Parts: sequence; structure tokens; C-alpha cells
Amino acid sequence: MNMKPAVVTLETRSAPLDLAKRQETPCGYLNRTIAYHGILLNMPATNFHSVAEDKTIEQDIASSHIKSLRTAIWVFDIDHSKVVWANEAALKVWGAETLDELKAREMASDMSVSVAQRLKQYQEDFTKSDVSYAEVWTLYPDGNPVTLDVHFKGYHFSDGRIGMLCEAMSQRSETPDGLRSAEALLHTSVMISLYDQNGNVLYSNPAARASLPENVNNLPDRFFHQSDYFNLTGQLQLNGGCQTSTQIKTTRGVRWHEITARECLDAVTGQKAILLSEIDITELKETEQHAQFLADHDTLTGLPNRNFVQKIIPKKLISALEFDEKLAFLLIDVDRFKTVNDTLGHAAGDDLLVQVSARLLDISKNKGMVARLGGDEFLICLSNLQSWDEVDEFCIRLVREFQTIFTISEKELHATLSVGVSRYPEDADNIHELLRFADVAMYEAKKDGRNNYSCFNSRLREKIDGQMTLERDLRGAIEANQFELFYQPRLNSFTNEIVGGEALIRWNHPTRGMLMPNQFIDTAEEMGLINEIGDWVMTQAASEQAYLEQIGFPITVSLNLSPKQFDFTNMLANVLSLQERTGCSPEKIELEITETTLMRNDKFTRDLLATIQDRGFGIAIDDFGTGYSNLAYIQNYPVTSLKIDRSFISNIDKNHAVTQLIVSLCKLLHINAVAEGVETQEQLDWLRRHGCKEYQGFLFSPPINRSAFLQLLQSQKGLMNFESENQIYPLLQSSTG
Ligand code: C2E
Ligand code: CA
Ligand code: CA
Repeated sequence: MNMKPAVVTLETRSAPLDLAKRQETPCGYLNRTIAYHGILLNMPATNFHSVAEDKTIEQDIASSHIKSLRTAIWVFDIDHSKVVWANEAALKVWGAETLDELKAREMASDMSVSVAQRLKQYQEDFTKSDVSYAEVWTLYPDGNPVTLDVHFKGYHFSDGRIGMLCEAMSQRSETPDGLRSAEALLHTSVMISLYDQNGNVLYSNPAARASLPENVNNLPDRFFHQSDYFNLTGQLQLNGGCQTSTQIKTTRGVRWHEITARECLDAVTGQKAILLSEIDITELKETEQHAQFLADHDTLTGLPNRNFVQKIIPKKLISALEFDEKLAFLLIDVDRFKTVNDTLGHAAGDDLLVQVSARLLDISKNKGMVARLGGDEFLICLSNLQSWDEVDEFCIRLVREFQTIFTISEKELHATLSVGVSRYPEDADNIHELLRFADVAMYEAKKDGRNNYSCFNSRLREKIDGQMTLERDLRGAIEANQFELFYQPRLNSFTNEIVGGEALIRWNHPTRGMLMPNQFIDTAEEMGLINEIGDWVMTQAASEQAYLEQIGFPITVSLNLSPKQFDFTNMLANVLSLQERTGCSPEKIELEITETTLMRNDKFTRDLLATIQDRGFGIAIDDFGTGYSNLAYIQNYPVTSLKIDRSFISNIDKNHAVTQLIVSLCKLLHINAVAEGVETQEQLDWLRRHGCKEYQGFLFSPPINRSAFLQLLQSQKGLMNFESENQIYPLLQSSTG
């Protein structure tokens, strides 16, 4: 006879029965001498043990009247998946002719994994305590389901093992749905349990029981954080239901459970109860936490990253406000980190960053949080400060600690810090400003020679305010027509004839008067306004060239291009359309670019410059000698002029060898050498002696406005071959900026 597993279903109404309690119930399950189906339930498992010690089961049970009871009673050996004893009523239930036939039945092969697991769970429960259960089971003795009300409890065999003593009554009529749902409850891996108002367990399904650790009995004890329990009960009171994920103590340690709880009435007592269903989401949570960790931390150093800082600092500020706490934000930049990267390579750079972060962590231990904001920029947030003096002390120590040498790729090197400090609540009350102010202070520390720290102060605040006003004003400057081009004459060194003019921008600020480029070009670059301004300059300068040519001055007009303009895609189009827009002659326009632009050395820049040159425009390298200064490099580019930086000319005695070399190489490469910043006759004489063909400088003229420049050109036409700058210079004084 093929049998389905013996064990099956439990309905929600059937709670685990506490024997002691049952003895007190008015139903009168009194003692083992009464011949009623409750008789065995009243006997604690330990009694069985003592009875069974030296007798066989047959002797133990058969000697009583039980054998002939109408209630089916049998003993199941969980370890061997066999019925080892049954009374006559049970034989009927199991459809067996004799006890021997039933005992011979091997049930393990037919048993599903979940049933086997549950039996093991019962066995464990019985080992732990003197518990009994009442469940609705469906047996399949001959393939047909028989549904029974089964009461069962532990049975101690004489060899110390634990089996199951079962007592069954045939089930009242039960709807198929009821049976199925009860069955599902037994088999599901969802943990379902019912608690009374005090958190005592009224019922738990096998999955819930399996997760319950030995010493944990009531609901509050199951929570790893008590606050989570209070949160749950609070929500239940408020909304009658709650869904939360929380850490729960289980037989597998502390696990994340997603709990859905709701208030209900216990079907047995009618009292208020809490129904919980739980699933273990630990793996999901861990994956989620890992992903979150990756999003919040820098992979190289393991430190919190900018993302994390943006999230955590606002919280820190709120709590600092609440507890009247002082905080300090230290923005840290590793001095000359780029040089390490450039000279020793990126692996060495990474190595240095790791060592720097370790040193920062060490110094900040118990004092605050360290984060890496990106690149070589770190942040320390000092908390729990009693006075601002502590910040100074910390910074002094910090800077000092970085004076010791690092060993990177077996090389010893210095990596000092520049630190900028902002303070909460002193300087600002929000993360955005605190970081910005720390940044401003950090640049101040860099300016003061690095290896240093600097605190944000009122002077820096004024500077920032000024900057903000400048930004606001700059936005409207083009439309308000506040820009103007000045021109500085470029001359033939030998004849002193004006061969060109460099267009230099001026800003006629409505309240501040005329501003020089160094007062606003950087800001325009940072704000992304440089492209617009640059285009205005190009258009003006090209128009001027067209005009000058038209009135008989075919000189070269040069104009300055910021490296940042090369970031704008329409820059090339702006240049290429100049001729059409202004009627200029491209070969009389020279675009001055810096070595920084060339150093990009990318295909885009090369192609762009080649295209510009194809159109006939000249290209000058400005401020030559201050940057990379690689003449070989320049060979790769279509360069027409090279402007030797003022610093060489002003110190020509010291720099004569290099300057001479530059001039000679220019001749060799057919590049026009232009000396900048010529202020004295001696300098000009030197240039003449060494064959530098062109120059600019205060010696002849500073940059002057358009009409003065025109006047100068016209007067020069009349005064050909003048010898001394004195003849013309006084004439210009009134019109210079
Ligand atoms: P730069 O291109 O090197 O321009 C020459 C600067 O040197 C001018 O300063 C000029 O006044 C100054 N200079 C000329 N001769 C002498 C001299 O003999 N002695 C001294 N001490 N200085 C002399 P300026 O006009 O203030 O321009 C400064 C810088 O601003 C320029 O340096 C250039 O880099 C930038 N700039 C000027 N106009 C523009 C522009 O339209 N666009 C861009 N992107 N930058 C510009
Ligand atoms: Ca220039
Ligand atoms: Ca220059």
C-alpha cells in the first residue's frame, strides 16, 4: 500500500497546547487513568520516559486499556520514519490489517522534504520542552486523503531518542479551501506567528518555530534593537498594521526579517492579538548594504566619499544644533600631488593616497570623520569640540605629522598638506557653504606657501562676497556693452614701425571703473562665460583689422584665446565665420594661444588649429617660457609667432642664454619671435643685437584705446623713422587705461 507522508496540516485555530494549562481546563482532561482520548496528553513526556525505561512500548502502552480505545493512537519513530506502535483504531485509520504490517511500512521514501524537516523540528521542540501540539493532518493511507484532528507530543524511547505520540480523531467536515490553506501554513517558509498583547506566543507555524532561538520566548526579546520593537507596537497602535524590516535574533544568529504585522483577535480567546508574518531578507539586505557601501565609499582608500559626505553632514549639523555642539570642517589638499602622479606614475600616486588616508585616519582617531572627496582632496569633520583652540591644535599637529617622509615605490618623498578650515555654526549653517568656505581657506593656505593651514575669516568672506557680485555683474556686461578693446602696438625691432596691435580686453564697470583682464577673466572662465566674451573679442578685433586695412593700415591684429574656449564646440565655427561676418583678412589676424592649450596635444586641438591655419589665420604662442616650453613640441603645430614672456626680457642679463636660444630656434623653424614687455632701451638694444625681429612693451607704448591706437598709427605715418619713444609716448599718456 502506497502511502503519502503521515504528517500534514495545521489550522490556525490549533495552538500548541500547554499541558499544565489543559489540566486546569473545565473540559476535564484529568489524569491518565481515565479512559478518554485525552488521557495520554495529560501525561508529561518525562513520565513516558520513566515508564518506558525498562519496558518495550508494547508493554508500556498495550498493558493499559488504550489498545481498545476508539480514538486512534500511535507512536511514530521520527528517526526511522516508521510507526512503531498503534492501537486498533489507529490500524483502521492507517488501513493496516495488523500492527506488524503497519510497523513494516517504510514511510521515508514517500516523505516530502518539508514534511521531513517539520518532523525534525517537532523532535527538536520536544527535546526542548514538554510541549504538545494539536494540528489538522491529512494522511494518505491508501492514496486517499483522511483528515484528522491530531494531538501529538514527544515520546521518549528507552534508548533516549525522541519519537512522537499521536492521538487522532476524525476531522469534522472541513471545506477544501480550509484544508488547503491550513496545509499551506504548515509548509510555507514564511514565518507566521500569533502573539498576545504581552508578546507571549499563542501560535507559531513550523517555519517560525524553527527560527526561534532557545532562550528567546516572547516577541520583544526577539528584536535585536528594542527600539524596533517599540516602533512596531507604536505603529500597530496607531495604524493597526505595520510593515518593517528589522534585525531579529534567530537560530541562525541575528538576521534581517521583513515583518508584516497586524492587530487581530485570537480566535480561541477572543482577546486582542498580533499576527506576524516574516521573511528572511538577510541576503537581499546584505547585497543592498554592499551596493550602498560601494556607492558611499571610495574604492581606493575605503574612506567615505563625497556622496556619503553630502548625506551625512546635514544630519551631523542637525544633531550638532540640537546638542549645541561645535564642528570644524578641514578641507585637505595634498601639495604637488600632480607632480607625483606625473613623475612616478598613477600607481605611485594611488599608493601615496592610500598612505595619506591611513595617516589622516590615525591622526583623527576619536576626533572625527575622514572622507576622500575626490582626487587628492580629503575632508576631516571634527566633532565634539569644546573650543576653537582645539581646531588650531589639531591643524598644527596635522600639518606637522605630514612633514615626515613617505616611501612610495621605494622612493622617499614629501607630501605636505594645505588645509582650509570652516567652522559650524560660526561660519555657516549649511554643508554647501561650509565646504565652499573651507575650500576658499584652503586656497589661501596654498597661496601662503602650502604645508600650512588657514581658517575662513571675515576677509575671505568679503572676498567671496566680492566674487559673487562680480559674477552677477559679469553676466550682464556684454549686453550692457561694457567691454572695450585696447590695443598694444607690436613693432619691428629694427625700424620701430608698428607692424601689429594686440587686442587686450577692458571692462568698463559701471561703479568700479575700468577693470583689467586679470580681475575678471578667471571668473569668466569658471562661469563658462569666456566663450561668449571670447567671441565678442574676436568679432571686435577682426572688424578692427578690416577697418584698419581699409583705411590704409594693413597691420596684423592679434587677440587672446583662453584655453577654456577650446572646450566649446562652437569656438571653431566662430573663428571660421569671422571673415564672412567682419570682412577681415585672416592672414592679418593672429590668434594667441598659451602653452596650456598646446599641451592638451589631443587630436581635437591639433585638427582645430590646423583648420584655423588652413583658413589663413596666424597662430601665436603666448607667454612662451612660462609653461612647458618645448620647442620641439611646437613643431607639431602650425605656429606663426612665438611671444617670449615678459619675465625673460625684464631679466635679460640673467636669461640672455635661454632667450638667445629661443630666438635662434625660431629663426630655424621660420617662426616669428616677438619679445614681450620691453621696458628699456637696453632691452631693445639687446633684442636688436640678437636678431629678435619684433617686440611689444611700455618702452614704446602700453595698451591704448582704439582711437589712441589709430591716432598713433596715423602720426607714425607722418613721422617715419623716429628714433626715440619720447617723441610719441607723452602724446599717449592721456589715452592709456
Ligand atoms: P598677455 O596676453 O601677456 O598681454 C600682455 C599683458 O602685458 C597686458 O596686460 C599688457 O598690459 C602687459 N604689458 C605689455 N607691455 C608691458 C610692459 O612693458 N611691462 C609690463 N609690466 N606689462 C606689459 P593686460 O592687458 O592686463 O592683460 C593681461 C592678460 O590678460 C593678457 O596677458 C592676457 O593673457 C589676458 N587677456 C587680455 N585680453 C584678453 C582677452 O581678450 N581674452 C583673453 N582670454 N585673455 C585676455
Ligand atoms: Ca597675449
Ligand atoms: Ca603674453
